[in-house]
Amino acid sequence: MTRSILSVHNVSKRFGGLTAVNNVSFDVKPGELLGIAGPNGSGKSTLFNLMTRIPFGPSEGQVTFDGQRIDTLAPHKIAGLGLSRTFQKDVEFPDLSASETVHIAATYGGRHARKTGADILDFVDFATDRREMHTTELSVYERKQLMIASALVMDPKVLMLDEPASGLTRPEINALEALLRKISQSGVTILLIEHVLGLLMAVSERLIVLNQGALLAEGHPKDVMQDPAVIEAYLGA
Ligand code: ADP
Ligand code: MG
Repeated sequence: MTRSILSVHNVSKRFGGLTAVNNVSFDVKPGELLGIAGPNGSGKSTLFNLMTRIPFGPSEGQVTFDGQRIDTLAPHKIAGLGLSRTFQKDVEFPDLSASETVHIAATYGGRHARKTGADILDFVDFATDRREMHTTELSVYERKQLMIASALVMDPKVLMLDEPASGLTRPEINALEALLRKISQSGVTILLIEHVLGLLMAVSERLIVLNQGALLAEGHPKDVMQDPAVIEAYLGA
């Protein structure tokens, strides 16, 4: 059996009386694209927060990355080991161009600094004639490309994406799907939280579903989405 690159073991997070993530365990194989689904408020983003300790770690449980416990490390140490993430909320990069944004990410964040900002913008197919635009002038999709590029300059082993398709048009979702496949084919392990189920089903090799903080189902995307418990969780949400 291949060793897991990432292992989440009995992880929980409580906010006062609310258990946002409840005793969740799963493993991720190197090179895998793992989809994460679940109704609104089911704990998906909190799970990413716990794993990257941005801004908080788990109340209970362990996270192992590449053979090393990371649930007690500082967030920048975790990122430095090769676990990069994006956020559900659009990150603002005030007073910077797209080029400057990714250059700064490459300068201060890169594990290996082998790839330049321009290389990464090329990789995500960011239009060359749009790179000196101020980030506030970019389209929603261009900001997504920039967000993903800024995560990729870390040269991550694992990339965690939180609802990258939100706010995108159908053609933009198709472009994102192609980009996700390209990143996956380059050898990066991907964890994808996504509400656009068509995209999630198309690219995920395996799918886990959270409901009310707990792991409800896990398996092949088609099987999981036909699971009566999963259908009920989505209808009941
Ligand atoms: P999802 O990403 O699946 O929509 P979240 O992980 O954002 O769900 O939220 C799970 C639950 O935890 C929700 O009930 C949410 O209100 C709660 N929650 C998330 N973050 C916090 C926080 N910082 N403080 C208190 N409650 C939170
Ligand atoms: Mg969320």
